[in-house]
Amino acid sequence: NEQIDDVRLAMTAERAQRRIVAIGSGKGGVGKSTLTANLAVALAQSGHKVGVVDADIYGPSQPVLLGNAGERPVAEEGKLVPVASEYGVPVLSMGHLVEPGKAIAWRGPMVGNALGQLIDAHWGDVEVLLVDLPPGTGDVQLSMLQKHKPAGAVIVSTPQDLALIDATRAAQLFETAGVPIVGLVENMAGYACPHCGEVSDPFGRGGVEAAAEAMGAPLLGRIPLEMAIREASDAGKPLAAGEGAPGAIFRDVADRLAT
Ligand code: ADP
Repeated sequence: NEQIDDVRLAMTAERAQRRIVAIGSGKGGVGKSTLTANLAVALAQSGHKVGVVDADIYGPSQPVLLGNAGERPVAEEGKLVPVASEYGVPVLSMGHLVEPGKAIAWRGPMVGNALGQLIDAHWGDVEVLLVDLPPGTGDVQLSMLQKHKPAGAVIVSTPQDLALIDATRAAQLFETAGVPIVGLVENMAGYACPHCGEVSDPFGRGGVEAAAEAMGAPLLGRIPLEMAIREASDAGKPLAAGEGAPGAIFRDVADRLAT
């Protein structure tokens, strides 16, 4: 029995050391998954022990973003073992468990179950678990708040009014549950024409900064709309891993998050 107590203590200590940081958004397609993958890679490169849970159960994209889509996690002692990626970031995603092209049509309780398996996995020495949430304020968010309460949340939005209204709603859900908003990130902010260099604002300008001010949360960064970001995502080579301007922006956001 003493042995069992020791194991329990060790498990509690392990869990106490690990912080969950949720990455949320109001709408889909605003770049939440792209940001999560790049933040994880940047944090790993600066020496943090970081893992990624892809909680976007119905639309998982981390396996592609982190370049390990073909891998399958194994289970040990009834728990999943996260899948390694070449960027030093272990990851678990429904995308690793369900064949590509197959629909994931689950009701709430099954979603909560799946989330539990991704989070209560063999994360070993991982200290920060970035959880890429689905958009909005649905079952996954509620399960997170009830069972796997994050230490903080990062909200991603484009500067567009419609996206901001929903982003504010997402932030409010966390705040009501006592989860602090660590900061906001403005994505797809400004597009430089590859021919003439003129910068335009397809999704508007400055909206996220204003929302951050209204919430009393910091703006962690502003990421431009850039072809290179989309290309790197599709190729499973996060820009945060390399030299170059967009990679540096992601690294700056990671630095602000880490301090
Ligand atoms: P979400 O997780 O919010 O649904 P994604 O990260 O999947 O959003 O991004 C949606 C699409 O936009 C993807 O095709 C992605 O490659 C692209 N994308 C995201 N951020 C940028 C950006 N800053 N510049 C160009 N494309 C981007």
